Amino acid sequence: MSVAVLKKEDKVIAWIEQWKRERTQPVSAFIYDLKALRERAMDIVQGLPDGCRLFYAIKANPSKVILECLEPIVHGFEAASIGEVRKIREVSEHKPVIFGGPGKKDEEIAEALERRVMLLHAESTHELRRISLLAGRLGVTASVLLRVNLRASFPEATLVMAGRPTQFGIDEEQVPEAIRLALSLPHVQLEGFHLHSISNNLDPQLHAKLISVYWARAKEWQEAYSLSLRYLNAGGGFGISYTDPNRTFDWSVFTTGLRDVLAEQSIPGVELLFEPGRYMAAACGYYAAEVIDLKCNHGKHYAILRGGSHHFRLPGAWQHSHPFEVVPLERWDYPFARPEVRDVEITAAGELCTPKDVLARDVRVARLRIGDVLLFHYAGAYGWTISAHDFLSHAHPEHVFLGRERS
Ligand SMILES: *Cc1c(COP(=O)(O)O)cnc(C)c1O
Repeated sequence: MSVAVLKKEDKVIAWIEQWKRERTQPVSAFIYDLKALRERAMDIVQGLPDGCRLFYAIKANPSKVILECLEPIVHGFEAASIGEVRKIREVSEHKPVIFGGPGKKDEEIAEALERRVMLLHAESTHELRRISLLAGRLGVTASVLLRVNLRASFPEATLVMAGRPTQFGIDEEQVPEAIRLALSLPHVQLEGFHLHSISNNLDPQLHAKLISVYWARAKEWQEAYSLSLRYLNAGGGFGISYTDPNRTFDWSVFTTGLRDVLAEQSIPGVELLFEPGRYMAAACGYYAAEVIDLKCNHGKHYAILRGGSHHFRLPGAWQHSHPFEVVPLERWDYPFARPEVRDVEITAAGELCTPKDVLARDVRVARLRIGDVLLFHYAGAYGWTISAHDFLSHAHPEHVFLGRERS
């Protein structure tokens, strides 16, 4: 297995070098490049055809600084819990919010309505009834999209939320019943459908095809039930290729395909919503972990890191070797020789007492010394927040945001 070729991020490396000059503790940090985030988000939003709106799915990275950075660029935010709705409202009182997710509690639905979310995704008929009841008590009408779990299968992506049994949404076969119910309920307004069927898809043409399938279904339901649709939410799921940098999802290929789909199948007055998380935030984040020890056990080389899967669970959860670069650092404070390996395959393990605490396996490095730093790329989404921070009670990493705009 070879080392992934990564672009050197000078600012990020300079920050690590400064840490090593100024502090004695080993480096442990999530480092975010806000300038890169801003530029990427602008490219993504500006690439979309007219009639499309982009909502950032904050579960990918709900840091306040990230939300503040994206707020002027995106059309709105997607929240999957009332905690996320509150985080968004801390940053903006008025930004449009979509509230989705299975298992919404009554208090969450009521508070979301009080905090004036733009849309709620109804995940079941029971939830539809509860939304109507709670909206009625508040004297409001709730705008809802039905989340549909389609029957077609989409084999290409890493995680699939539909096309096979999952806990998400309403089975396509039960959609007619859900539509009839929504139309009969006094305090919900059915505004459209939500179809988030795919995750980490790397094929932009397949993604455009998927939207075409969504449009066709929405049109059938619209015609069959004379619905006045306003929105079709096509979800997120645009992929990041963690293990093969040549396979990254090409946004312009997708938006070109999307333009063709919209030209052929337009539904007048209906806006197409997207709610990407990973694709927005992954590339702006880095996870830096200093090498604490090097060893060779049973013929395999290991680098033991300050940090690990309790900070960055993504590679373990996905069972991949996460791409990293070696940041060589010259400082060496011990009065004995500095251990190093050259041109060997190393496994990068963390500081936890479990063999599962591995971030990358059998990756060739030209040279690695104790005291160097492994800088993991694509750590900006589903990094820190999906990890078990207090397992073993090690100190948390630092969280640094480079390139903040001063106002
Ligand atoms: C997680 C999620 C998203 C974001 O998914 P990404 O793969 O990060 O783009 C969007 N919509 C829903 C409903 C989700 O659950």
